[in-house]
Amino acid sequence: MREWAAATTVRRVVLAAPRSFCAGVERAILVVERALEQYGPPVYVRKQIVHNTHVVADLSRRGAIFVDEVDEVPEGAMTVFSAHGVSPAVRSAAADRHLPTIDATCPLVTKVHSEARRFAEHGDTVLLIGHAGHEETDGVLGEAPERVRLVQDVGDAERVRVDDPRRVSYLVQTTLAVDDVADVLAVLRARFPDLAAPPSDDICYATTNRQRAVAEIADACDAVLVVGSVNSSNSKRLVEVAERTGTPAYLVDGAGGIDLRWLAGVRSVGVSAGASAPPAVVDEVVAALSGLGARTVREHTAVQEDVRFMLPKEVRQ
Ligand code: SF4
Repeated sequence: MREWAAATTVRRVVLAAPRSFCAGVERAILVVERALEQYGPPVYVRKQIVHNTHVVADLSRRGAIFVDEVDEVPEGAMTVFSAHGVSPAVRSAAADRHLPTIDATCPLVTKVHSEARRFAEHGDTVLLIGHAGHEETDGVLGEAPERVRLVQDVGDAERVRVDDPRRVSYLVQTTLAVDDVADVLAVLRARFPDLAAPPSDDICYATTNRQRAVAEIADACDAVLVVGSVNSSNSKRLVEVAERTGTPAYLVDGAGGIDLRWLAGVRSVGVSAGASAPPAVVDEVVAALSGLGARTVREHTAVQEDVRFMLPKEVRQ
């Protein structure tokens, strides 16, 4: 009760825009929904379609079955590859099991795969700046395992070995923090002056825009809540970007995750959401803050977004 009373100082909510679903996530969810409609349940999905507990729970209720690997899928059953992409080895494992597949990989992740193949075919050592164990990096590493090397941080950048320092290129996981990548790239460029860059930025528009928006609201707020699940890379980066402005920031999977101690004495709360977090969950968080006494809810738009991706042909109606 004392914690609740202390948190009732909240007066103002500032919503970051853009926030929540990006075009790649909307497309991936729609792929599963359409697959369920067109082919009927169950539809198998390799890995979480997007990294969000609410999305996965909702699609599970409607007949999607999430598996870790394609060998858990019954022979011949309809299978969707998640938004984070898959390696060629996963595609061939699915073909071996005669699985009809629909690829929900975000086109911007597919772009990074193509770049990895092109650089590797050119004879480069490809330095992939990303996080170990993330499905996106696993998929890209799998494009040319003998040529692509993972660089997770500045320490890795200082140590990584390449076959020929004149034939080195780099790629970036789409959901990293822009500033972190700049630090790693500064080290790589100093070590490998001929380092080749991808033709366009790998960190995607949605990541960049959400980071910019959260940094701007964090500057003007006493605390920031980022809606997203713990395994969502881009949501965790939003927390870090907000913290870098000096404002405390917290990741919440929903309104129930708000710790009232975070809000003690806080008057203005910034709210953002990772690209995989549903808008409805953001609404719940805002409603909870209103329940604590917030009187105004204002949106701060850093960038307008109008990106849309075409659906895969198997589910285009
Ligand atoms: Fe695609 Fe970027 Fe969204 Fe990932 S965060 S699904 S790369 S648009």
